[in-house]
Amino acid sequence: MKTKNKSIKILVVEDSKVTLKVLGNYLASMDVMEPLLAETGTEALELFKRERPDIVLLDAKLPDIDGFEVARRMRGMELAEEWTAIIFLTALNKDEDLAQGIAAGGDDYLVKPVSETVFHAKVRAMQRLVEMQRKLVDLTRKLDSANAELLRLSTTDALTGIANRRALDDFLSREWRRCIRKKKALSLVMLDIDYFKLFNDKYGHHSGDDCLKLVALQIARAAPRASDLAARYGGEEFMLVLGETDEDGAMWMAERVRQMIADLKIPHYATESKHVSVSCGVVSVMPEDRLSLETLLLSADAALYQAKRDGRDRVVAGKYGNY
Ligand code: GH3
Ligand code: MG
Ligand code: MG
Ligand code: MG
Repeated sequence: MKTKNKSIKILVVEDSKVTLKVLGNYLASMDVMEPLLAETGTEALELFKRERPDIVLLDAKLPDIDGFEVARRMRGMELAEEWTAIIFLTALNKDEDLAQGIAAGGDDYLVKPVSETVFHAKVRAMQRLVEMQRKLVDLTRKLDSANAELLRLSTTDALTGIANRRALDDFLSREWRRCIRKKKALSLVMLDIDYFKLFNDKYGHHSGDDCLKLVALQIARAAPRASDLAARYGGEEFMLVLGETDEDGAMWMAERVRQMIADLKIPHYATESKHVSVSCGVVSVMPEDRLSLETLLLSADAALYQAKRDGRDRVVAGKYGNY
């Protein structure tokens, strides 16, 4: 019988030289990778560690370490996604030995003397299981990376590459609860590009998109800490979440981002500076269970509206509950 997969490694552990020779011959006719042979438990464990066989044919009675113990130690050496097929070989033919072998981590049992036909059939069956296991591991890895990619896509804004509204909502509610526990202030900076409709009308939607990307990048650069998040709130509006940050810190950050965006010097005919500018509303609070995130958001929006009314291209501090 020819097996398809030459990359299957088989370790045969048997202290009887005669039996080992016979089994070696059985395997040689199977077109598997060169079989690994061991005569003692110690040798078997060393080979197992070094070669990582896919299938182990293991004599239950060995001169040094008991075969069942060898199986247990092999199982102990397997990594999370690894699985080795272990078939016990024994002259014993008692039900409790079979049970003991399976309990020790064995997958099957062969009673000696083993006929070539039965031997081949068992090895082939195990080989199928090994291949199935490999496919499963491979598939699991592919699924894991597909899931990671899906998660990335579902939380990222397609145009700017920064966090989207959904990621913002998740982050914000987590950060809100975390700041309650840690008794730390939480701040929001809501940013909105000034006269962006006129920018689009004048320079075209494509330039508008490019402008959004550049602005987003500056906002993301300003939020490097794990407790910060820069997100696209929608349209030409952005949000900077600043965990463990009080009003002074948030005002400083907002002013810095406003300046960073001004420094881009993207021409815009309609603004006072003749460059793209943003208006920012800042609001800080010590989160508590009796307070609400919704109110915090409304308050930041109100502060932003005030910044617009005050002449744009500026930062205005609002008060929690003032909207
Ligand atoms: P204000 O200073 O008061 O904020 O004025 P504004 O013109 O920026 O505000 P308005 O809300 O009237 O207009 C927002 C504009 O943003 C309108 C819309 O065409 C544009 N916009 C929203 N999303 C996108 C986008 O993904 N790409 C582009 N190019 N433009 C967008
Ligand atoms: Mg023996
Ligand atoms: Mg707007
Ligand atoms: Mg705007």
